[in-house]
Amino acid sequence: MAHGGYGGHGGEPAPAGRMPVAFLGHGTPMNALDRNRYTESWRAFGAAVPRPRAILVVSAHWYINASVVTAMARPKTIHDFYGFLPELFAVDYPAPGDPALAEEVADVVQPTWIGSDTDSWGLDHGTWSVLVHAFPAADVPVVQLSIDAAKPFEYHADLGAKLAPLRDRGVLVLGSGNVVHNLRRIDWSRPDGGFEWARRFDDAVAEAVTSSPEELGRLAEHEDFAAAAPTPDHFIPLLYLAGLAAASGERARELVRGYAMGSLSMASYALG
Ligand code: ZN
Repeated sequence: MAHGGYGGHGGEPAPAGRMPVAFLGHGTPMNALDRNRYTESWRAFGAAVPRPRAILVVSAHWYINASVVTAMARPKTIHDFYGFLPELFAVDYPAPGDPALAEEVADVVQPTWIGSDTDSWGLDHGTWSVLVHAFPAADVPVVQLSIDAAKPFEYHADLGAKLAPLRDRGVLVLGSGNVVHNLRRIDWSRPDGGFEWARRFDDAVAEAVTSSPEELGRLAEHEDFAAAAPTPDHFIPLLYLAGLAAASGERARELVRGYAMGSLSMASYALG
């Protein structure tokens, strides 16, 4: 993978017309209904970017054994959780799909193969819980790209890098996950707190993503990685941002940081 420029503070300036990229830490689905400093940061990000032609989202919650893009004209809102308030099941995010973009994604990543889903998935809560804040009008087309659970970290960073040309064609690439995500160690007595191991790993990610994002994959060797990401589904969306950063020589900037219930990091980052 090509290394970025280390010359200037903050990396290379993005050329005019190139869309930003973001990784948003979505946390609990309840954030879709809440207003807090995380949802406000997503809102501010959405308001600040040029209006995208479409949004391509890599969500932690579409974790399957293939890389597939949603290719339906009207993706349904999927309520892929249980035990939450009825209000959350009532959320609808009626953004259109973009079958032409789905084809373009498959084309731009060749020779990597990406499948096309016309009838099974839609927009899961990893996508809509952040988009209801970042793009509340739901009038920008949205395509999801699944995470191939069988592939190593390098595959995801490389696939992210291959998406780079889409930024110059008005496409906003978003990763939605959490840097630290360990549901088995949730501690309800710490609503805004983070365990020490969670903070250590989150700090290491913050350091890497803002100074040398192409090194992010190496954090799999960090002593706290196993606790921070017992399954890597919520971490992997960040590797797409890392790949895009490596492709353009940019470094990420922090949008917001914080913790929830001890074992969730709410950190979000952006390029451009
Ligand atoms: Zn999640």
